[in-house]
Amino acid sequence: MSHATSAMPAPLVLDWRHGTIGPLEPCVLCGTPTVCRSPVKDVPCHKACAETWITTHARDAGHRARLIRAYTPGRGEPR
Ligand SMILES: [Zn+2]
Repeated sequence: MSHATSAMPAPLVLDWRHGTIGPLEPCVLCGTPTVCRSPVKDVPCHKACAETWITTHARDAGHRARLIRAYTPGRGEPR
């Protein structure tokens, strides 16, 4: 009997190397102060919180990929 492994999504890690930091402000997702800014929306937000948000809001793999793309600054893409 083969036992199908549950479809566990791979850990999500956003590429926020282009993100900026600023004064401590409450994270928009968890409310805990953070210096990290979302590089896309320019709001106070922990990178880990954004990753968790995407993981919990993605309806399927395709949607997850779009969310990741939407919340990751362009890498080498022409402006
Ligand atoms: Zn947070």
